[in-house]
Amino acid sequence: MVRSGLTLRPVAASAIRHHGRETYPHECCGALIGLGGLVTAALALPNTTDDGPRRRFLVRPNDYQAAERHAAELDAGLLGFYHSHPDAPARPSRYDLEHAWPVFSYVIIGVDGGDPGQMTSWRLRNDRSAFDQEQLIEADPDDEDAGV
Ligand SMILES: [Zn+2]
Repeated sequence: MVRSGLTLRPVAASAIRHHGRETYPHECCGALIGLGGLVTAALALPNTTDDGPRRRFLVRPNDYQAAERHAAELDAGLLGFYHSHPDAPARPSRYDLEHAWPVFSYVIIGVDGGDPGQMTSWRLRNDRSAFDQEQLIEADPDDEDAGV
């Protein structure tokens, strides 16, 4: 199947916005869970690490394991990760590029002055040289089959 982009169920999109608002001015970070390019759940990952509050997006091995476990409980898969950019554009940073994996979608939400704003999705090229933006769609709440 050709994957042309990522579709978010409304519950997942609102969970990402809520998390971005809640953790502002820090970055939030979480996992995208679903199947076949449709995100059915957003799992918030802890906002503090051994180094203190998350200032930069970094998915740690125990985050990854928790996300995979949660996805398995939902009979779904891990499609990618999201994080917020407080008072910054919803575009990947150099740091994001260096810490991403090619198989996943990376959703970034800009949070401007505490208000969740633009949401974008990105895929790392196989040679890890750059991100390509992918289409991000928010599914219609009335259309349960959207994006499948
Ligand atoms: Zn970032």
